[in-house]
Amino acid sequence: MTQINGRPESTQISLEWQTEPARRPDPRRKVMLLFPPNWTPTMPHLALPTLTAYLRQHGVTVIPRDLNAEVFEHVLTAGYMAEAVEEVRRRFGPGSSPAEEMPPPMELVQFALRRGPWLARQVERAKAAVRSDAFFDGPVGFRSLQILMDCLQIASLPFYPANLHLQSYEAAGPVDSSRFLLEGVRDPRHNMFLDIYRRTLLPDIRREQPAVVGISIPSMAQMLPGLTAAYLIKEAGLDCHVTVGGPHISMLRDVLPDAPQIFGLIDSAVVFDGEAPLLQLVDAVADGRDLAHIPNLIYRHGEEIRVNPRKEPEKIANLPMPDFEGMPLDLYLAPRLVLPLLTARGCYFGKCAFCNVGYGEPESFSQLRAQQLAEQMLTLHERYGVRHIFFSDEAVTPRNLRDLSRILQKEGSPLRWGGCVRFEKVITKPLLEQMVAGGCRMILFGLESASAAIIDHMVKGTQLEHMSRILRESSEAGIWNHTFFFFGFPGETLEDAQETVNFLYAHKLYINSAAMGTFLMERYSPAHRYPHSFGVKRIIEHPDRDLAIYFDYEVERGMDERMAELVHDRFLESLPNKRYPQFYVNDVYRFLYASHLGDQGLPHPPWLVPETAG
Ligand code: SF4
Repeated sequence: MTQINGRPESTQISLEWQTEPARRPDPRRKVMLLFPPNWTPTMPHLALPTLTAYLRQHGVTVIPRDLNAEVFEHVLTAGYMAEAVEEVRRRFGPGSSPAEEMPPPMELVQFALRRGPWLARQVERAKAAVRSDAFFDGPVGFRSLQILMDCLQIASLPFYPANLHLQSYEAAGPVDSSRFLLEGVRDPRHNMFLDIYRRTLLPDIRREQPAVVGISIPSMAQMLPGLTAAYLIKEAGLDCHVTVGGPHISMLRDVLPDAPQIFGLIDSAVVFDGEAPLLQLVDAVADGRDLAHIPNLIYRHGEEIRVNPRKEPEKIANLPMPDFEGMPLDLYLAPRLVLPLLTARGCYFGKCAFCNVGYGEPESFSQLRAQQLAEQMLTLHERYGVRHIFFSDEAVTPRNLRDLSRILQKEGSPLRWGGCVRFEKVITKPLLEQMVAGGCRMILFGLESASAAIIDHMVKGTQLEHMSRILRESSEAGIWNHTFFFFGFPGETLEDAQETVNFLYAHKLYINSAAMGTFLMERYSPAHRYPHSFGVKRIIEHPDRDLAIYFDYEVERGMDERMAELVHDRFLESLPNKRYPQFYVNDVYRFLYASHLGDQGLPHPPWLVPETAG
């Protein structure tokens, strides 16, 4: 047992995570796990550490590769940038032949040629600044992040209109179309990952010879980069089983079998929780067995695509803690190491009409006990010296918030943490103060709307009275409040939207940041499954978008999609400018900024209040 804070062992909590004794490594049971771009490269995603832990616990050799972090690291170098500028000059610069179908806008080309050589010389220093305390220096952090963003824009120009940003990747075509994906994976003109993977990934797969390559695809933006890796493995004739999995693949489970051409790139797809199916897949591939018995698997069998039944999800408490060994922890673009954890799988509420939690299956919620959670956090703190933990949960339960913060306070509050919380009546002032004492520095609230009628209609299960009180008490306790909200839920009127805006301004002193958008009709959400119950006349499916998860729709009353976008854009335009917007770019930067200000004894700036000069 490990000592913490020099107190006697008997009062300490155990940091030794329960694992089964490891089996002898079997060379046939070797897996390479890939996490393709694009995901914000500021902390590891949990997909690889979660699968890695489970597979290693069962004696499988795992090589995790965060291709997302690697690609940003590869692109944001002086050498890559200099090559990109030369490529822009050769193809689009003065004297080049106008052979391109769709050349980039001339002002971008001129910017790249004028500014690119200087940016190439600055990029390494800017990366170092973003990874250091210099990030918190307003002007230095702002300049450094701007250099990285400008570099990404220039590095993307040879592949125009495809565009790699810090926060997203826009492919040159619709990534919810299997026709486009099949073209896109082999299109060197628009796919920047082909060359990067050929240089960095393929040699390693050749050398390591994994029996299975598992590609994690949590989001739609990762489809093309993920399938590009699969394509290259098949094109090179490498002898390994290629499987894909993750939330986005689970969302496609009903349409994938109707897109058999995708199975020319992959051998199988794992849907829902991947741990046990992936382990069984590794064993079946090693032993040359049939895949028919592996749960949650969609796979190619000759000319046929077969779909195996789903297995009951494993309770999170029975799974090993995420294993970050082998993740490139020094490559993330943030001033401090932040590691993600889950307190639960699924959402304990699980009813919001716009939300696809559970992917259309009855919600199976399970959570860790606060004691287990604290042990995981303290283990990571001890192993990696990490001080910041971000809970990637849908919503942490009030009970875990209370118990966890008490345990951590007893341990001397060595960690700062944050995550999503629902506006529940039981989130009281004493609880919020307890959370701060236990290290909580940021809460992300799904505010969604502040019209009581729309809150009811979307089955959010929250009340304005508690939303208002919690925002104030949370802010007064010293927590950075981040809110999510959107316009255009079916049936929402302009007056309803105005109520949301009024609420935000009425609480402007207590809200520190927000992410807003418009309603998205997402596959498997209650609004998608039961459109008429939510005032949706028609959901529009485009035949070419055979892998779509978002849909256009028509409403019976209230604002349509176009009006919701207009309201959103107008509200966005009305927001006060931030002098140092780098702190608001993503969850990790907001969280670290909140923690940094707290450590300095400085207040958290309100989001909607204009900043004074100085
Ligand atoms: S929106 Fe949040 S609270 Fe509502 S069901 Fe989804 S995850 Fe749960």
